[in-house]
Amino acid sequence: MGVLYILGAGCSWNYDQCNSPIPGLRPPLNNDFFKVAKKIADKYQLEAKFGGPILGFDHLLRDINSLYGYGRSEEDTTVFNDSRLTLEGVMNHFYLRRQIFDEGGLLNVNPDSRTNALNELLACALAETLKGPPCRKHAKLASIMNPGDVVWNFNYDLLMDNALYGLNKMSDSGYIIRFDYTLTRAGWQETRDINSVVTVLKLHGSLNWLQCGHCGRNLLLREQKSVSAFSSTILGGGLECPKCKSSSVLSIRRLIVPPAGLKNFLDIDMRYLWRTAPSRCKDIERIVVIGYRFSDMDCELEVMLRTMVQDRVLRADLPITIVNPDPDMVRAKFASIFDQHNISQEHDLATFLENLE
Ligand SMILES: [Zn+2]
Repeated sequence: MGVLYILGAGCSWNYDQCNSPIPGLRPPLNNDFFKVAKKIADKYQLEAKFGGPILGFDHLLRDINSLYGYGRSEEDTTVFNDSRLTLEGVMNHFYLRRQIFDEGGLLNVNPDSRTNALNELLACALAETLKGPPCRKHAKLASIMNPGDVVWNFNYDLLMDNALYGLNKMSDSGYIIRFDYTLTRAGWQETRDINSVVTVLKLHGSLNWLQCGHCGRNLLLREQKSVSAFSSTILGGGLECPKCKSSSVLSIRRLIVPPAGLKNFLDIDMRYLWRTAPSRCKDIERIVVIGYRFSDMDCELEVMLRTMVQDRVLRADLPITIVNPDPDMVRAKFASIFDQHNISQEHDLATFLENLE
C-alpha cells in the first residue's frame, strides 16, 4: 500500500526561499527558462567569460541569436526575453539537428557542444534559483511520505531528495540506480547499500549524478556544497574520479536526460531506471501529480503508464490528485489512461498540504 508521487518543474517552482543576489528568482519552468537564464547570465556575465563556467556558452548564444533573427552576437542576451523560446523547444532543436543533420547522425550518442552548454546553463539556473535554506514545503511533503511510497521525480534538482534525506526517509540506495562512490564531507566513499524508506526514481537524471566516461563508474555528490558548485567543479577540472583518477573535463559527465523529444535511452543505467520503475509500484493505491505538465514530448511516461495499466500493475480506477494551477493538459492525459471519474484537482502545493491536515 503506497502512494505514487509524480513531480514536475511546477513542484520545484514552489521554492520561495531563494537568497540569490538576483531579486525575485524562482526555479525555471519550460516557458520562462530563458528569461530566468538571462538574469543569471547578465548578473554573472557568463557571456563575457570565454573559458568561464559554461564551456561553449558564447557559441550557443550566437546560434540562438541567429536562429531567432537577432544577428550573430556572442554577447547580447536580448533574445532570451523572446517569448518564442522555451526550454523544450530550443533543447529539441539542437538535439534533433545533431541526430538528423550532423555527420554521424544517430551514432552520435554523446550530446554535442550546444546541447552540453544548454545542459550546463540549465544546471546553473537551477543552482542559482535554489540557493538558500531547505524548502519548507518539500519538507512538509516529505513528512507525509511513508514506507512503500514511490516518487517519480522528473526534476534534476535536489529539493525532494534533500527533504527526504533530512528526515532519514531516504538513503543513497533509494535512487535505485547503481552508484560506486559517494562524495560526502569526508571525501569519496564507496556507496553503501542501505534500505531506503521511500524510493525516488529520478527518471530524467539528477544534478548530483555523474558518470566517469573513462572507467564507467557512477558517482554521487551527496554534499550540498559540492552540488551547488558543480558547474565550476566539473568544468574547472577540480573533480577527480576516485577510481581511475581521471579529471578530464571530457571524461566526467552529468547523468541527465535532456528534455528533448528524442531522448537518449542508450545509457544502460538510465534505461535500467525506467525498466525498474513499474516493478517498484506493485502496491500503489493512489497517485499524486504535482506540478507536472505532461507535455506531448513526454511520450515515454505515457507508454510506461499505459503499459502498467495494461499489465494491471496499476489499477485504472486508482484515485488521482492533480496539483496544478493550470491542470487542463495533464488532466486530459491522465483521463486518457485512467478512469476520469476518480481524478481530483488541487490548485497548488500549499493548498494540497493544508487540506491534508
Ligand atoms: Zn573513472
